[in-house]
Formats: sequence, structure tokens, C-alpha cells
Amino acid sequence: MNFHATIAGVPRIGPDRELKKALETYWKDSSTGRSLASTATQLTNNYTNAVLAAGVDAVPFSGRSFYDATLDTSALLGVLPERVQDIADHDNDGLPAFIDRYFATARGTSELPASAMTKWFDTNYHYIVPELSASTTFSLDDSAFLEDVSDQIKRVGTAVRPVLVGPLTYLSLARTTDGSSALSHLDELFATYARLLPRIADRGVEWLQLDEPTLVTEVDAAVLEQVRAGYEKLSAASGLKLLVQTYFGEGEQALQTLSGTGVAAIGVDLVAGSTELPSWTGSELLVAGVVDGRNVWRTDLDAALETLRGLAERGPVAVSTSCSLLHVPYNLDREAQLRAEHPEVVEWLAFGTEKIQEVAVLSRALQSVSTPADEAALEASRKAIAARAESPLTHNSSVRKRTEAITEEQRHRDPVAKRREAQATSLDLPPLPTTTIGSFPQTQEIRAARAKFRKGDIDVAAYEQAMKDEVADVIRRQEELGLDVLVHGEPERNDMVQYFSEQLEGYLSTEFAWVQSYGSRCVRPPIIFGDVHRPEAMTVNWYKAAQDLTNKPVKGMLTGPVTMLAWSFVRDDQPLGETADQVALALQDEIDDLVAAGAQIIQVDEPAIRELLPLRKEDQPAYLEWAVGSFRLATASAPNEVQVHTHMCYSEFNELIDTVSNLDADVTSIEAARNGMQVLEALKTAGYELGVGPGVWDIHSPRVPSQSEVDELLASALDSVDPRLLWVNPDCGLKTRGWDETTESLKVLVSAAQKARQNA
Ligand code: GLN
Ligand code: ZN
Repeated sequence: MNFHATIAGVPRIGPDRELKKALETYWKDSSTGRSLASTATQLTNNYTNAVLAAGVDAVPFSGRSFYDATLDTSALLGVLPERVQDIADHDNDGLPAFIDRYFATARGTSELPASAMTKWFDTNYHYIVPELSASTTFSLDDSAFLEDVSDQIKRVGTAVRPVLVGPLTYLSLARTTDGSSALSHLDELFATYARLLPRIADRGVEWLQLDEPTLVTEVDAAVLEQVRAGYEKLSAASGLKLLVQTYFGEGEQALQTLSGTGVAAIGVDLVAGSTELPSWTGSELLVAGVVDGRNVWRTDLDAALETLRGLAERGPVAVSTSCSLLHVPYNLDREAQLRAEHPEVVEWLAFGTEKIQEVAVLSRALQSVSTPADEAALEASRKAIAARAESPLTHNSSVRKRTEAITEEQRHRDPVAKRREAQATSLDLPPLPTTTIGSFPQTQEIRAARAKFRKGDIDVAAYEQAMKDEVADVIRRQEELGLDVLVHGEPERNDMVQYFSEQLEGYLSTEFAWVQSYGSRCVRPPIIFGDVHRPEAMTVNWYKAAQDLTNKPVKGMLTGPVTMLAWSFVRDDQPLGETADQVALALQDEIDDLVAAGAQIIQVDEPAIRELLPLRKEDQPAYLEWAVGSFRLATASAPNEVQVHTHMCYSEFNELIDTVSNLDADVTSIEAARNGMQVLEALKTAGYELGVGPGVWDIHSPRVPSQSEVDELLASALDSVDPRLLWVNPDCGLKTRGWDETTESLKVLVSAAQKARQNA
């Protein structure tokens, strides 16, 4: 039978981050396996129960996941990396036998490196990248998964729908260690799934979900043909009803590829994609993702219902979320402080629990079996949507006046030659200047002081004094090291987005709204609900405190508009570019204040610029236009003699060199050491003409690089970059490092620059 209501995927970490705590305890002390296993079981059981209790009649189950669903799939397919294979089976405790190999893959061990981790499509969730090669063969290691599935079926019956990452998506996300194409395994992987699925069916399962978000991206026609053939075979062979679930974009390509293959249902994201769906013929159940699974706003239930009713005239429809609820916090009810401080805004929000209720209400309305409580819910939604649309909180007229008046001129500085001349006089830097990216070690003392301040054990003055002492220490250490351009060290920032969001109007922060970022790591993204503006200076005092202590230039340090959006929940009632420009104007004001306070160098970090890049090429130019435009708006008011820096990391920027160049920052520091200085080739080919600091120290581990290593990295940078444009710096900020390795590594870095200067 078809189901009427479901969600596309479930969060795992727990409403109180229970899984995080159990994981971290287990990693410290592996005798706590039993408690980790039972925590994971409890969390999945509770979640399943709650979804079903809300009146949703089908619920996904990805097995008890201890870290990441893609990694779960690697373990299930027997393709954890070769190097962890010697780690012995864990003798049970209720955990899968492979669990220690699994964690070694995710986190590394003292001897073995971890697998790479990267962002899941255009979200902030990170998955563990499968490592394959031409010689990879799949061999099912499915006993843990099948046992979990059996338990769930016994517990709640066939409303439970196991979920796996689909073959196309799994291989598209994999990397190979030998340069071969991961997709060359596609037929073989379909064949492996064809062996697995009947085993799942044997456990009494009726529906199985295969997640194929890759189907919303550009996929070669030949590959789509293979996918179609693969799903035809799977549907015929499995004895299961298959739901192929897509998300994060337009569903058309999935519908074209899968219609008529025998799959029972196709799930599409109707928030990110259009609702027309011309390729849906009505022969499959359409799982209609009308409730936004990755943002925190209440659904316009009337509008969603209209869409659903239109679709239901064409064929069978089930109501769902646009994507997994992994990406939103659990429960709005707990945000008492938020409710007290922003009673109006709270009414506009829906977290996971509330979204599940929305799905249930919509599905009953679609079936014309609404209860009086549903009618009340529909009415409350109507009110909230109307209130939000009209609220002065979302429309600040002075902000609007300012953004409407933005001219193209405001996004331009004078030509770079002119700036360079002015900066040569104002700054007087040596060739190959040395600097760092901004943060210095966030020591235990810093974190303790922040915790005390939060609890009210120390007052603002005491806290600020402790941070200023830290700034003084950081300045002294940098002078001793002989660095040329200094930073204040960012001790007062816990997180580079949160710090600014707390000082900007239009943003709000939550207390408990955690979402998993990776493994046991969670973040609490702030929410942009209204027009953004800056009531007062945010960083000037910290800059001054540092600059007063040294004659060397100290960089003013800000987070750029794109990153301020990428790591927040954003408004969905206006284009992202408009919000970005509002943030940009707030940053422009801050830059003006920093300049007035004497700052000669200002860095505006944009580590996330790559992350928001749309999945489809055709959507990319429009994004890059507003992303670059907002950065330029933020920085263009800086006078010629003030040097604007930016910093990028977390991914490869090779295809984006033109974008980096369009930002028109005088100097860009970029992660390079970690991926073998690949960016140099791209800089050379592009004829990059602005200042650039490809990182010469990979800061992601405590290892101190040897002198010859850094000398060589710098020498290779000098081969590709004009020496007059080259800066010497680490890959990224040092906040997660300790002081010992920081000091030693920076000595090496400074000495490499000094030697290179002499040789020049
Ligand atoms: N200025 C920030 C720091 O050094 C940049 C962090 C980042 O790139 N993610 O911590
Ligand atoms: Zn960085």
C-alpha cells in the first residue's frame, strides 16, 4: 500500500546531543560500547515513535548510524579503506563488529590518517568521502544493518522504511586513490545492491528508500541510461517497493530517468525545485517535499496544500519534507529565551518536530480528513505567514533605503596599480611579507573565561580584561617570531559567524538548536529573520587594543557577507543577494570605523564562498554575481592606501580562480599546503595579478613541518607567482592548534621567508 505522509530523512545526534556525548565517551574509553549502542538504539526508537505518533504513516530508518550515512554505506559495502583492515573486529557489546575500523576511517588513529571529509552537496553537513580505486570490489558486510532493520520491523512493522545511499550518489561522492573513475563501478554497484535488496526484503521490509540527490545535478546522458537500467533491475529483483529520493534541486531529471522503471515512488524537493513536474506521469507515487527540510521557517500550509491538490489530480501523492530533517534543529519548544526575547519571530519558525506536524496536517487535509486541531493549525499558519509578511521586523526602512540606493560604483575600487602604489608607501612591507590568518590558539583559559562570563561568574569588564591580556600576549609572541603583519588573535570569538551575528540586528541566536555538522560535532547556526544592520562598532576596540601595543600593522578582522549567510539559517522571503548586500553594508560601516581608527590592513574572510555555489552550472553565474558583488560592496569603500585581504579554505578553488580575482581583494590567503599546492598551477594559468598567500603550513594536524618542507613549498610558490605579489602564511586560522606547535611552525615559516628574501 502507498503511504500518505513521511519525512525524507532523520537526524541522529539526539535532541540533547546524546549521541555526541556517548560517542565522545566511547572514544575516550572503549569499555563504554554497550552504552553507546543502547544510546543509538534509544535515539532511533524514540525518533521513529515520535514521527509515527504525530500521524505520519511512514518513517525512514538508516540503521543505527554512529557517524555518517555515507560511511555507513561504505561499511555495508565492505569498502572501508585498505589501511584500516588490520583493526580487529569489535566483539560486540551491541555494536557492529566493524565499529573500530569505521571510527578509524572517520577519525584516523595515532598511526592511520582519516578519510577525507567534505560538505554534503550545498549544505553544512560533512560526509566521509569513500575511497575507491579501479581494483575495488564490493563485498556485503550487512549483518549489523540487517539486524537493526529486523529489530525495527519487529518493533513497529512495515511503516519503517530502511534508507541507503543510492548507487549513483554513492559513487559520485567517492574519490579514487588511483585517478580512475569511481563511476566505472556503477553497474557492479547496482549488481551488489541487487544482492542486498532481497536480503532486506527477507526481514519483512515493504518499502526501501534509496537516496539519489546526485540526480538533481548535471549527470551525463550515458550515466543516466545506466541508472535507468540499474533501477529497472533493482525493482524487478528485490521484492521491495523502492522509493528513490532526490533533494536539493529540481526533480525533473530524476522523474525522466526513473519513470517507468518499476520503482514504486520518486521523492522530489518542491522547495528547491519547481512544482510543475511535467515528466511525472502519475504511474509512480510522488513523494512531494513541500515542507522545507533545511531551513527553519514555518510552511505556508495553504500554498503547500494548493500545490499538493494540483498534483493529486495527476496521480498518487504523499506529503513529505524537501530533504532530511538532519539539517534543522529538533524542537522549537525548548527555546524559552528566544520566545521571551522574540515572541513574534518564534511564531514564524518551525524546527524538526514542528515540521513533522506540518507534514501530518497537510496529509490529512489532502485526504480531506482534517481534525478540528488541524483546522486550528492551518489557521495558525495563515496568521503567522501573514504576520511575517507584514511585520516591521522584516522591513527596516532605513536599511531598505540604503540597499535601494546602491550603485555599481559602490562595488568598485580604483585600479589595482593605483592601490598598490598607495599601499607601498603606507605600509612599507618587506618582500614576501609574513602573516597569519587571524586566530591563535583558543586555550583552555580562554574557553574557561568565556564559560564563566556566560554563567555570570565574572562581569563584562573582567572578561574583556582577560581577553585583552590574551591579545597582548599574542602580539608579544608575534613580534618575537618576527612576523610582519600581525593579528589580534580573535580570543573573543567563539565562532566567526556567531560572533558577528550576536552584534547585528536582524539576526537571532538560539540556546539548544544544534544541528550535526559531522560525527559528534554540532553547530548552532544563527537565524537571519529581518533586515540586517549594525547598531554599533563590533571589532574596533579589539583592533585598537592590539594596534596600540605594536608598530607593526595589525589586521582588522571581519567575516564576509557570503560566509555570514552560508553558516546561518537565511531568510526565505527575499533573494539571498539582497540579504548579502545588507550584511555587506554593515561590514562597510565597520571597515569605515576601522579605517578611522587607523587600520591599514583589513581582512574579510570568505571561507564559505565555494560552499554556496549552486549544484548546477546554469545557476552558478547568478550566484557568483551576487556573492562577488556583496564582497566588493563590503570592501570597496576602503581608501587606496588601505590593503584589503581575504581568506579562503575548506575546498579547492582551482575552478574559481576567476571568482577569487573578481573579488578584487589586494591580497588573498588560500589553503594550499593541505592539497599539495595545486592552486599554484591555476594561479599561473589564470595570470593572477593580485597579492596571494598560498598556505605553506598545513595547520590541520599538530605536526610541525620541517624547514626543508616549508622551504620547498615556498620555492614552488615562487615558481608560479610573481615574487612581488607573494605572501607567506599558513593554510588557515590557528584556533584549534596548541601553542607549542604554533610557535615552532611559525619559526619555520618566518625563517623560510627570510631565506627566500636573501636568495631573491
Ligand atoms: N580569521 C579566521 C581564523 O583565523 C578564519 C577562519 C576560517 O578560515 N575558517 O580563525
Ligand atoms: Zn581558513
